[in-house]
Amino acid sequence: MITCENLVKIYTIDDDHEVMALQGLDLQVEDGEMMGIIGNSGSGKSTLLNMLGGLDRPSAGKLIINDQNLLRLTDKDLVRYRLETVGFIWQNNARNLIPYLTAVENVELPMLLKGKLKRDRAKELLERVGLGHRINSKLNMLSGGEQQRVAIAISLANNPSLLLADEPTGSVDTKTADIILDVFRELNRELGVTIVIVTHDTLLTRKMDRVVAIRDGKTSSEILRRSHYSELLSTEQTDNDEDQNDTHVELAVLDRAGRIQVPRDYLDSIGIEDTNKLQVILEDGQIILRNPNGEKVGSLNN
Ligand code: ADP
Ligand code: MG
Repeated sequence: MITCENLVKIYTIDDDHEVMALQGLDLQVEDGEMMGIIGNSGSGKSTLLNMLGGLDRPSAGKLIINDQNLLRLTDKDLVRYRLETVGFIWQNNARNLIPYLTAVENVELPMLLKGKLKRDRAKELLERVGLGHRINSKLNMLSGGEQQRVAIAISLANNPSLLLADEPTGSVDTKTADIILDVFRELNRELGVTIVIVTHDTLLTRKMDRVVAIRDGKTSSEILRRSHYSELLSTEQTDNDEDQNDTHVELAVLDRAGRIQVPRDYLDSIGIEDTNKLQVILEDGQIILRNPNGEKVGSLNN
């Protein structure tokens, strides 16, 4: 569904200042996947989502979504892409919703933009997110969690194949966040829509098929559910999918040039502080990373 290769985004702040928000990011998302993106503030998560949603254009690299090359789309095609292929949910409700309209009128808005108003479908979408009883409520009568569910219904209005959510649970409590994540999970299972969710909350990432960690504008590691991981390795898989949510495997991501990011605390633990050099040794089918001045203490399975 999504292929990002060596994706770069540079923001020009003024004549002398540029920020490289994405620094050659690689990412692959399968059709029908529900995946999470985590990373510290400023690591490039929102920038990536804006590129995926066609809200802004990458500076360089490759970005293919649903067989469309997003670097080559004309402005007109990009507008169509935004309206037809993707649905967006933001953390900030003000960006998702019009407060003086009812829930159902909010869901109808994107349909209007596309030229077709379908009240029945708008109602059905609200029922789908568990708000069948709130269809005619003004938005300011709804709780934060309910408003986020309206936002999800809105994002589905034009039947997108990709949902992008930027910290959708950032302003609600843990219990509400859990409910919202379950709504996403259900939509993913029932409609087969591909979902990419940026989140801070490591507890919520348990509900994802796969989680990608971004550091300094690059993919640094992937956390896979163990069942998903065995599938990738085509080894035998137990059918007890649900119970395996707790067991995750974290793998470092190699870029196309064979570079990896080594966690800072690993480097600290082998005493790499005042040098930027490591000894890399191939030994017994393992690659060992060694402090050139010290004993062999760190190793990495191949
Ligand atoms: P995250 O969502 O992970 O917190 P962002 O993608 O928002 O990170 O930001 C990544 C980097 O790009 C930050 O250094 C941020 O200051 C910068 N940045 C983001 N958007 C803009 C913009 N529109 N103009 C200039 N710099 C930006
Ligand atoms: Mg952000």
